Amino acid sequence: MNLFLRGTLMAVTWIAVAGGVVWVALRWTNAIGGVLCAGAVLLPFVYVMVCTLYPAWGDTKCPRCGKPALRRPDPKNPLGVICDACGYEDPELYRAYLDEMQ
Ligand SMILES: [Zn+2]
Repeated sequence: MNLFLRGTLMAVTWIAVAGGVVWVALRWTNAIGGVLCAGAVLLPFVYVMVCTLYPAWGDTKCPRCGKPALRRPDPKNPLGVICDACGYEDPELYRAYLDEMQ
């Protein structure tokens, strides 16, 4: 799907969501609409808090054999990986948080 179509679809979706909240508030009670609006405002902050506080997770999956056996050959050098399962070696591949995974 191209970018313009996706952007248009998202704009229409969010206008429909906002209209739905207003419709719910008018149809039933303002309290439900208020709770939905507060949830919509707080959700991005909750997302940022969860992403900030969740521990970092390294990807140890080997690109050749697929087993989670990658390790860094030299702890002082951030580049380079070795797979203990199949012997795959790439001196220039970078994987974040490999040292923290062992
Ligand atoms: Zn491997």
